[in-house]
Formats: sequence, C-alpha cells, structure tokens
Amino acid sequence: MNIDNSSPGKDVSSDDLKTKLPLVSKKSPTHFTSFEIGHVTLGGRDAVTMVGPNLVENREMILEVAKFASDNGVKILRGGCFKPLTFPYRSDKYFETGEEGLRWLREAGDTFGLLTITEVIRESDVSLVSSYSDIIQIGTRNMQNFPLLVAAAKSDKPILLKRGFGSSLRDWLGAAEYILNEGNSKLILCERGVVVPHTHRSTSRFLLDLQVIPALRELTHLPVITDPSHATFWAPWVTSMALASVAAGVDGVMIEVHPNPRDAAVDPLQALSFEEASVLLKKCRDVATVLGRDLD
Ligand code: PEP
Ligand code: MN
Repeated sequence: MNIDNSSPGKDVSSDDLKTKLPLVSKKSPTHFTSFEIGHVTLGGRDAVTMVGPNLVENREMILEVAKFASDNGVKILRGGCFKPLTFPYRSDKYFETGEEGLRWLREAGDTFGLLTITEVIRESDVSLVSSYSDIIQIGTRNMQNFPLLVAAAKSDKPILLKRGFGSSLRDWLGAAEYILNEGNSKLILCERGVVVPHTHRSTSRFLLDLQVIPALRELTHLPVITDPSHATFWAPWVTSMALASVAAGVDGVMIEVHPNPRDAAVDPLQALSFEEASVLLKKCRDVATVLGRDLD
C-alpha cells in the first residue's frame, strides 16, 4: 500500500522514508532485520522476554530475580542502575545504585547465563554502562537526546530505543536513524506507552499504542518490542497488554518483576510478583504458539 506523501509533517511520508529515514526504512515488503546478541536472536522467528526490577536495588534481589528468570525460560535480565526520575528527590527508599548496581546486574546475568539490559541516562556514562551490560537502554525521556544517542551508538553495543511518551512515530524513527547512521545496526525499538487525554484510570499516565506495531511493520525493518509495565503503570493490567502485544506480533516484551512488588523502590504499582510473572509468561507463550513462534 502506498503512503501519502502529499503532506509531510506529523506522519511519515514516502518522501521521509527516502530522504530522512533511508537506513530505518524497509527496502522491500519482506525486509526485516534480525541479529544475534550472544545466544539470543532479536527479530527472528522467536520473540524474547526481558524481565527484571525497575531498579537493581541490591545484590540479593537481582540474584533472586535472575534465578526466577532463568527458571522461567527468560533470556534477558533488565534492571535500572541510573534512573531518570520525574522528581529530583531521593530518599532511603528512592535511590540509584549506579556502578555498584551495574556490577550486581552483571554478576546476576553471568551466574544464570542471562543477557543484561540497563539504561544509560548521560553521555559521560556510556562507556561505563557498556562495559557492564550486554544491551544499552535509552529511556523515553532521552529519545531525542541526540548526543546521547550518538555516543551510545558508537559504543557498538546493541541498543534498545524507547519511544518518547509524547513523540510521533516520525520523531521516533528519526531518533532510530541517528543510531543506524553511526554504523550501529543492532537496534531494537520499544513502545512503552504514550500520553493521551484519557487513560482509563487516574493514576495511569500512559496508553500502550498497540497500533504502532503494525505501523512500524509497514515502515521499518527493525525489531519491535513493548513494555506493558511502564505503559499501564498498574500491575493488574500488564498481562493483558503483554498478551495483546504478542498477538500483535512483537519481537519481545519487557516486563517488570520484583520479589516483593509492594516494597519496590521505584514504581511499586507496576511490578509483577514471581507468581504473576510466571503466569504471564506461560500465557504469552501460548499466544506466541498460535502465531507459530516461541517466546524465549
Ligand atoms: C525503565 O525501563 O526503567 C524506564 C525508566 O522506562 P521509561 O524510559 O520507558 O520510562
Ligand atoms: Mn525457541
């Protein structure tokens, strides 16, 4: 189907695809990129799961989550060590673990044979973060921090680029083009919810844009995952949005899991317990099977 190119602007025109997004755009209807990160394939036949806490709070907890992940067939362990928090205040309960957290995450990943992903929030930390983590995450608040994108791309680590919560698909793909333009082709896009006037619940800040998944499939060859935890901000809704994502054909889902969700240092309302996450993973695998895929 042709894309209207008569009115370049908010949406992606065919002219944009040629002149502004030459690396991000598909070259044929069947053009999809897949690549290996260690023993895991992104964008291939199988979808992947990235599981872990919002914040790597301490060594014991990340080891416990890594064991859960490994026992449940998960291949990628997530956890933040540098947090771009909405408000500047930290407390005993609201902190960052920085390099110590990176070390614990690495140890937990290595102990259980998992890849790791963690966020980098400043350019000056790119080499530190990339020395510990297998995948670098660029968060929603930094999607258009172009110097950070370029620095992260130059690290040659695979990158997960979250969509800015107020960003159009066009802006998101533009940010992705920055990364490919540095010669780093191991890029994963992550839809994590966008700001809309209504979110069905007063404390839900975002709405998971499921429709962006087929839209991305039309325009780009890059692997696509969703993060239903940040999108819903509400644990009881995470499973249905994860299932919907898998049904929509994503290459993976990122799910927040905590040994004691209500005690989580950051975003306690959105984390799943081990029991809940284990049910989610089983259900998502069943949906993936219907579509002829595995979920690793
Ligand atoms: C996160 O994944 O921990 C995070 C902060 O996500 P986002 O950038 O989507 O808010
Ligand atoms: Mn498999």
